[in-house]
Amino acid sequence: MSVKPRACLELELDLIATATDEAEASAARRVREHVALCEPCREDLRRYRAVERAVGSLRAEADVDADEPARARLLAHLADLRSRLVTYGVFPSPLGPILIARSEHGVSLVEYLDRGGVAGSRLARESGFEPEEDGAELERFHRELLDYLEGRRTRLDWPLDLRLARSEFHRDVLRATAAVPYGVVTSYVGIAGKIGHPSAVRAVAQALRHNPVPIAVPCHRVVGVSGHLTGYAGNRLGLKEQLLAVEGVHTEHATEAPRIARYALYHYDRNDEHQYCLPTCGSIARRPIGRVTLFASRERAETLGLVPCTDCRPDLHPLPRT
Ligand SMILES: [Zn+2]
Ligand SMILES: [Zn+2]
Repeated sequence: MSVKPRACLELELDLIATATDEAEASAARRVREHVALCEPCREDLRRYRAVERAVGSLRAEADVDADEPARARLLAHLADLRSRLVTYGVFPSPLGPILIARSEHGVSLVEYLDRGGVAGSRLARESGFEPEEDGAELERFHRELLDYLEGRRTRLDWPLDLRLARSEFHRDVLRATAAVPYGVVTSYVGIAGKIGHPSAVRAVAQALRHNPVPIAVPCHRVVGVSGHLTGYAGNRLGLKEQLLAVEGVHTEHATEAPRIARYALYHYDRNDEHQYCLPTCGSIARRPIGRVTLFASRERAETLGLVPCTDCRPDLHPLPRT
């Protein structure tokens, strides 16, 4: 959000009152006169009104507090309306056209677009948000995304706005998934355990299927216990494979569904010595993913503080690089 001229700032509360039909006649007149001459404020008024139309009726009963001073109420209202303004851009990528949207809180949507384009996007379906295209503002995110997809960057340290997640449970799942490091694979069971709901495996999978910010929240690093890729952004398994391959995790197609090539990854099953193993160490490769964490490289394991197993010695017999 840019800094506004003083005259515009002084008028801001009247503008909100006007957008929400709460303005006194004199305030409404001041606003009318101002927006006739001031294009940015005119645009603000239009966008606030659009959001207000979408959410005002939902909110009407919820938070009318007659005792609250009018100014405080308008300020709260202003903050709410502002946080619903979203800018977006559509960008080319090796995974096809991607829409990135952000609010003042952070990136709120990363969406693979299909033939429907923006009209078929989630942005068009969600109510309570007022989207506006501004590719220039989002260009930084696009650049970082390309760097990531081409292996020049291993993190997207984006502020995230998870309001498009469907519930607080979904947000918990997304936060736990955001903590899965680059080059590491776990399972839905592993995430369910992390958030303290070990039996909610299907619900975890659902939450990730509806992840509003894929890649930024790396749900592609989460697979079934047997290594099957299962869902991704609807059913775009090919994209999941590509994203994993960027991190050095490859898939095999021996079965009906693509599966993580486990034997090309280092394994860690929690132990007091924090030792990670070769997949051929004992029965480790037969234990479920999620209980066992998989690593694309020794570096990935060792950055997390793990040390080579003293039996199978991954340090002496490293896996071939893929
Ligand atoms: Zn103005
Ligand atoms: Zn071992």
